[in-house]
Amino acid sequence: MPKNMILKCPFCDKMTINVIYYPPVLQTSVSRAAGRTATKYYKTKEKYEVTSDCPNCKKKAREIQKVLDGEKRDSKKEKKILERLVSQGLFKSEIKIDLENTD
Ligand SMILES: [Zn+2]
Repeated sequence: MPKNMILKCPFCDKMTINVIYYPPVLQTSVSRAAGRTATKYYKTKEKYEVTSDCPNCKKKAREIQKVLDGEKRDSKKEKKILERLVSQGLFKSEIKIDLENTD
């Protein structure tokens, strides 16, 4: 069940941010093959939804949400940084070398 919580604002470090916390949920998926039934279990990711701006430093909920999402999903953040480096032409040579090596 989603739960209302108060989190620390990542910008000013005060306990001011209202969020809705969605805990990980166990979900089942049933597949049938060759007359047998197999049940698989999946766990959804927990998630925070920021529902208020910060009354202390006036950051918008959307901006706080971005920071929280970044912290929860590091791989995505890293990919974004990588994409930015590639778009700036900083990583081109390494990528070229990688492609040559796999051939
Ligand atoms: Zn703040």
